[in-house]
Amino acid sequence: MRQSPTPLARIQQQLERLRATQLYRERAQVTGPQGVEIDVQGERLLAFCSNDYLGLANHPKVVAALQAGAAHYGVGAGASHLVVGHTYAHHALEEELAEFLGAPRALLFSTGYMANLGIAAGLLDRRATVFEDKLNHASLIDAARASQARVQRYPHGDLARLGRALAASRGEKLILTDGVFSMDGDLAPLPRLIPMAAQHSAFLLVDEAHALGVLGAQGRGSFEHFGLPADPMVLRMGTLGKALGTFGAFVAGDDSLIEYLIQRARTYIYTTALPAAVAEAARASLRVIQDEPWRRAQLHERIDQFRRGAAQLELRLLPSETPIQPLILGTPAAALAASQRLRARGILVSAIRPPTVPPGSARLRITLSAAHSAQQVERLLQALADTQGLA
Ligand SMILES: *Cc1c(COP(=O)(O)O)cnc(C)c1O
Repeated sequence: MRQSPTPLARIQQQLERLRATQLYRERAQVTGPQGVEIDVQGERLLAFCSNDYLGLANHPKVVAALQAGAAHYGVGAGASHLVVGHTYAHHALEEELAEFLGAPRALLFSTGYMANLGIAAGLLDRRATVFEDKLNHASLIDAARASQARVQRYPHGDLARLGRALAASRGEKLILTDGVFSMDGDLAPLPRLIPMAAQHSAFLLVDEAHALGVLGAQGRGSFEHFGLPADPMVLRMGTLGKALGTFGAFVAGDDSLIEYLIQRARTYIYTTALPAAVAEAARASLRVIQDEPWRRAQLHERIDQFRRGAAQLELRLLPSETPIQPLILGTPAAALAASQRLRARGILVSAIRPPTVPPGSARLRITLSAAHSAQQVERLLQALADTQGLA
C-alpha cells in the first residue's frame, strides 16, 4: 500500500513544485536606505520597482519627524486605539488627511491590508453582496471573504456586467475597486461607477493605494483627477506606505460610517495602533506632498519619457498614465529571465508572476519615481533595448 506523504513532506513537495514552475519567490536583502539607487547585499542597483513614487521614504523632513516623534512618544503605541494607543499625533494626522481629501473624516488603520478587511467585514453581514473587479488587489479579494457576504466578481472594468449584477441583487451592497489598479496601472472608471453605485444604493470602497500623492494637481488621488466631489456612500482607503513613504493606512468618508467602523471593524479594534512617531512622519510627508508639487510634475515627466522611449522600442506596454508601467511577458520563466537580464546590467525590476497576476500575464512591473533622473530612465530604456534581442 502506498503511504500518503506526511504533512511536512507534502509542504516540501509543494515548495519543489513552486521552484520547478518558476513561481518560487525570494527576498532581496536591502542594506541601506530606500531610494532609486539601493544597496542589495553590497551591490548598488538602480531600482524601478518601489512604490515610493515621490521619493519621500528617505526625505530629510520625514526622517526628522519620525525621530522627533520617537523622542517624544517613544516607539511602541502600547495598545490599540481604543485603549491608550491613540495619541494626539494620530488624531492630528486623521484630521489632516480628511482635510487634504475634502472628506468629513478619516480613520487610521495599521496597514492597508487590514483597513480593507476591516471595512468590508465591519460594514456588512452575510446577507449582503460584495461586487468586485477581477483585477482588484489581493487585500480587496480577502476583504470580501472576511465579510462572509456573497461575492460577485465582474470582468475588469465591465460596468455593464456590474450594473446587471447590482440590479439582480437584494440586500446591502458594497462595490470594491482599486482606484489605480496595482498591477496594470490603469484607472477605475469612477465617473460612471459612482452614479451606478448611487442608483443601486450600494456602498463603494475605492482603494487609493496607488493614486494618493500621484494623481490630481494636488496629489489628492483619483477623485481630484476626475473632478469628483466627496460622496456619503463612497469610502476612500489609502495607504501611507506608498507615495507617502511611511507606513500605515486610513479610510476617509462620511462621519457616521467612520464612527461605525470604530465600533465594528475588528482589524481596527483588535490590533496595536501604529507608532505615534510613524504618524508624525506621515504628517510631515503630507506637508511635503502639498509644499513640493514639483515632485508630482517630475514624476509625470518621467512617465512620459519612459512611455515615449518604450514606444520607439516597440515594447508592449499597457495603456497606463500612472507610475505603474507593466511590460507583459507571458510565462513566469520569461518574466524571471527578463528581470535577471536587467539585474546583470545593475537594474532591479522584479518579475511579477501568478497568482499576483492572472496566468499568462507574468510581467515586469516597472514603476517610476519623482526621484528618478532623466538619465536613469534613459539607462532603463537602453537596458531594455539591449536585452530585448536576447529574449
Ligand atoms: C499595497 C496595497 C494595499 C495594502 O496596503 P498596505 O498598507 O501595504 O498594507 C492595499 N491595496 C492596494 C491596491 C495596494 O497596492
